[in-house]
Amino acid sequence: MTDLPPLREVINRHGLFASKALGQNFLFDEQLLDRIAAIPGKLQGQQVLEVGPGPGGLTRALLRAGAQVTAVEMDRRCLPALAELDEAFPGQLRVIHGDATKVAHGIEGPFHIVANLPYNVGTALFTGWLGGESWPPQWASLTLMFQLEVANRIVAEAGSDAYGRLAVLAQWRSEARLAMKVHRSAFTPPPKVMSAIIHVTPAAMPEGVSARMLERVTEAAFGQRRKMLRQSLKGLPGALAALDQLGIDPQRRAETLTVAEFVSVARALS
Ligand code: SAM
Repeated sequence: MTDLPPLREVINRHGLFASKALGQNFLFDEQLLDRIAAIPGKLQGQQVLEVGPGPGGLTRALLRAGAQVTAVEMDRRCLPALAELDEAFPGQLRVIHGDATKVAHGIEGPFHIVANLPYNVGTALFTGWLGGESWPPQWASLTLMFQLEVANRIVAEAGSDAYGRLAVLAQWRSEARLAMKVHRSAFTPPPKVMSAIIHVTPAAMPEGVSARMLERVTEAAFGQRRKMLRQSLKGLPGALAALDQLGIDPQRRAETLTVAEFVSVARALS
């Protein structure tokens, strides 16, 4: 195995003090990083898109696992540290300097996505990766760090307080699970809240359902989550007739509808 300097030394040598504006909370524990890199499964020879590599802690773990990594990083200061990894793992790493919400990664063929990102960027990318009419997606899996509270919303079951649009989006044509909780003390500097890693794999898309229509239904239903469906879905043409036709009681609230029931309402309206 390639001998690499400890990550703390790398950030000191390159002056990579954590920038709050870029949501930088770094992971230094190499064993933990190896465990995270193992979540997508065997990566030997597989393409991986890593978003926000920073000083490259997770990147080295992915490279050690044998992945071909394309890493998109916005912070120019991190590039020399990432160039060192390129030297240590020749031919395995491609670094793109830019904003992951805007740049094209250019990976051809299926790839895994792995990221430890700031909350707002992570959620925006996540909803983009899971949205759209075209399915299955190009990606084979998502392994993403979120605040624990957001992770709980992604895997929430109907009837729970955490259940909402994010759960329906993540579960209607994917399998989403909470793969690992990560204590705040694992990060430098430690964030205020606990974190967790979510692992998502695509599943079959239910037939006859428009993703956009499902979005509209969940948006309306959870936009007024304390209201009964007959009130919250009133503005969506045909929705109340669809509930009637499907035998769904219009007095129920959005949070009591299962993902399958949301899908059936969207199908009736699609
Ligand atoms: N992966 C490293 C680790 O686990 O130690 C760094 C994680 S840090 C929480 C998030 C990283 O994402 C930072 O390096 C930050 O500069 C980068 N970042 C933030 N916004 C970004 C964006 N829009 N596009 C690409 N990278 C971004």
